[in-house]
Amino acid sequence: MKVEILIKELMATDVISTTPDAILSDVIQKMIDHRYSCVIVVEEKRPVGIITERDIVRLMGQFMNNRPQTPARVADVMTTPVATITEETNLFEALVISSAQKIRHLPVVNADGELLGLVTQSDLAKAHFHIFEKQREIIEHSVTARTLELQKANEQLKSLSMVDALTSLGNRRAMEVDLEHTHSQALRYNRSYAVALFDIDFFKQFNDTYGHQAGDKALKDVSGHLLSSIRKCDRLYRYGGEEILLLMPETSLYGALILADRILASFAVLNIPHEKNSCGFLTLSCGVACQVEENGYDHWEGLVDLADRGLYASKSNGRNQVTIIPPEDANDDSVPRLHGNQP
Ligand code: GH3
Ligand code: MG
Ligand code: MG
Repeated sequence: MKVEILIKELMATDVISTTPDAILSDVIQKMIDHRYSCVIVVEEKRPVGIITERDIVRLMGQFMNNRPQTPARVADVMTTPVATITEETNLFEALVISSAQKIRHLPVVNADGELLGLVTQSDLAKAHFHIFEKQREIIEHSVTARTLELQKANEQLKSLSMVDALTSLGNRRAMEVDLEHTHSQALRYNRSYAVALFDIDFFKQFNDTYGHQAGDKALKDVSGHLLSSIRKCDRLYRYGGEEILLLMPETSLYGALILADRILASFAVLNIPHEKNSCGFLTLSCGVACQVEENGYDHWEGLVDLADRGLYASKSNGRNQVTIIPPEDANDDSVPRLHGNQP
């Protein structure tokens, strides 16, 4: 944004003027009385000269050198010709004129050369400073606005990079971040938490039968169903293609089992047709594991592996069911306990 100031915005219009024939002592007295730093000398409305404090100082010099004749008229001491500017002159041009010619008072004239007003060097300097301030403010505002835009874009990018595009659940990265956090809290404060790993049964065949788009929709339906079934503090993530992980902070193995079982049962009620599934509708299998104080894992991956073993057991035992592997059996590869809605 360009900031330009024209002289007409700066000039003072209550200018003190006199004529060349005026009595000099009267003019000087006026300057003393009213503390004018200059008086413009005008003939037929046009500036023809100027008397400034400099002229008075020069006059004083002459007196001190004992110059005998005392000037009587303004015309005898005024500086002439006088440099003028028009009201359309811009601040920068006026500054150049004033500093190049060391002029402190610039009469402003119209196109006919008639006196309109006056600007002083200090008016110009103030205006110049004002422009700098304005430009600084503009730059500061644009920097602040840009920083806010960038922060917003970064936040959007961050949340996008944490969300799975198809299901709107957390993605794998979000899952790792949250599990890391939950696990370290569980270790630090001896708390328990549970994970459940869900997988759609015969999903390849579902795609083959109803098409990939119908498969995508089914995945969204499963995600929506899971989302509507959990508590506010629980979190869902797309773990893999058609596998979803549920993270349940502060939850016991028993509590997690109840929830997972309820999710499977209510999902079956949705009755999404799947002719290649012996039930005739789409089903889920699930494995549940719980981190407990007495028998915890050093890393969350151990717990997710355990849930995966439960899921594998659910699959091999007929699908549409939940399997838990209790922590005390975590290192035992024997057949896990089974729960759920076996057909
Ligand atoms: P199982 O009961 O043993 O889990 O059998 P399955 O067919 O579900 O498992 P499998 O691992 O053989 O196949 C998984 C299928 O999930 C294959 C793959 O095309 C499908 N899938 C994974 N991600 C997506 C997706 O985003 N959209 C769709 N439509 N299908 C997906
Ligand atoms: Mg599957
Ligand atoms: Mg799978």
